[in-house]
Amino acid sequence: MNLHSELSSHVDDAPIFDPDAWNLTEKQATLCTETRKLGQQVLAGRASRYDRDAVFPTENYEDLAKHDLLGICVPEEFGGRGADLKTYMLAAAEIGRYCGATALTFNMHVSSCLWTGFLLDELEMEPEVRARHEQRRAVHYERIVKQGKIYAQPFSEGGAAAAGAKAFGTHAVRVDGGWRLSGKKIFASLSGHADYYGALCTELKTPDSEPSRRNTMYLAVPADAEGVTVEGDWDPLGMRGTVSRNLIFKDVFVPEEALLMPRGIYFKAAKQWPHMFMTLTPSYMGIAQACYDFTVSYLRGEVEGTPPVKRRMYPTKQLAVSQMRIMLEQTKALWFQSISEARPNPSKESLLRAWAAQYSVMENANELAQLAIRTCGGQSMLKSLPLERLYRDSRCGSLMLPWTSELCMDMMGKAALYEVGENDDA
Ligand SMILES: Cc1cc2nc3c(=O)[nH]c(=O)nc-3n(C[C@H](O)[C@H](O)[C@H](O)COP(=O)(O)OP(=O)(O)OC[C@H]3O[C@@H](n4cnc5c(N)ncnc54)[C@H](O)[C@@H]3O)c2cc1C
Repeated sequence: MNLHSELSSHVDDAPIFDPDAWNLTEKQATLCTETRKLGQQVLAGRASRYDRDAVFPTENYEDLAKHDLLGICVPEEFGGRGADLKTYMLAAAEIGRYCGATALTFNMHVSSCLWTGFLLDELEMEPEVRARHEQRRAVHYERIVKQGKIYAQPFSEGGAAAAGAKAFGTHAVRVDGGWRLSGKKIFASLSGHADYYGALCTELKTPDSEPSRRNTMYLAVPADAEGVTVEGDWDPLGMRGTVSRNLIFKDVFVPEEALLMPRGIYFKAAKQWPHMFMTLTPSYMGIAQACYDFTVSYLRGEVEGTPPVKRRMYPTKQLAVSQMRIMLEQTKALWFQSISEARPNPSKESLLRAWAAQYSVMENANELAQLAIRTCGGQSMLKSLPLERLYRDSRCGSLMLPWTSELCMDMMGKAALYEVGENDDA
């Protein structure tokens, strides 16, 4: 499917990351153009309805499938677009600019391809373990690329597991041909809409075994399997289209083939590939850009559906836009540097920068949204315009585990002041 055949070749909005200025590869530039066109011409117009009704962006997923974007991070040899972490992040930010909830749920889907693909390709593994993984992931990729199936990524449980401090309370007990899975996930974005739930859980040899984080497993649970139910209401402040309800697994049989990562690998991968937790940021990088774009357009009297009143001649507005631009440039630069240096076993400096980048994107998106409202004024925050939705959506960024803004600060402070093995006991 050629996206250019259906969408107008004219895109009003400039790219968030200009390919020449930021030295993007051809693939990065192409994918960013595709997501920007789709975002501006299709997703933007639907965003307010998903937000108002707190409903899942089903039509957007049909379009993502139609334009070959569901397999953006499926390796090319499996029929996907072969985007690596950085390429995906850049393209996803353009989606977040037009519909935050679509970008955030898209991240949960795409993570199932990144964790099984690009991330594992860069990690050492025994040849026979890798060969078996290749067979399994082929099944999973075919579902996505050929059948348009969607994956969710429920790991939060309301306890310390999602922050990486405890073993997951969702347990998988070994049985003939697979596992029996039981547990509860909270905030499961795409619940009731995904075809598969990529669930993180703890494998137990017997129901009485002691749970250990080393035995974390990543299983693709079919949404229609017996024992899978979705419960609870969904009426949050922001990111309302994510439909992140509770997911219950009650004695669900999951066959061996459902293993998305070889056993024991998730624990290693999470330690060795910390930048993977940054995949929650592109949605908010896009929102940060959208807040700035809206403000410029509003002050120039160019926002569709509003009277053509210009407000740009006031020095206070000019100063506020400068302040927003500085914050946006700082955020973009730090984020771009951090996703450019993402690799397994990063140096301490690189990891500190990743936490600083995560914190900056999540906090600054919200800061830019509030500056935008203050600067544009009362009429700009009416429900008929996107700014108040951007404001509410942006508030959610700093809450995303395992790298919430608080935890980033916590980890950065400790890592900056202590070398490995140091303590103050002596
Ligand atoms: C819109 C939206 C969509 C989401 N989608 C998904 C999804 O698809 N899949 C998924 O798994 N989760 C998802 N989440 C959940 C998210 O990642 C967090 O798990 C959730 O917001 C945590 O809420 P809580 O109240 O249980 O946090 P709590 O665990 O109560 O933590 C509250 C705060 O305390 C701090 N904290 C937590 N643990 C520690 C610790 N060990 N040490 C020090 N401080 C700590 C953190 O800053 C945290 O923000 C989503 C959340 C939102 C808002």
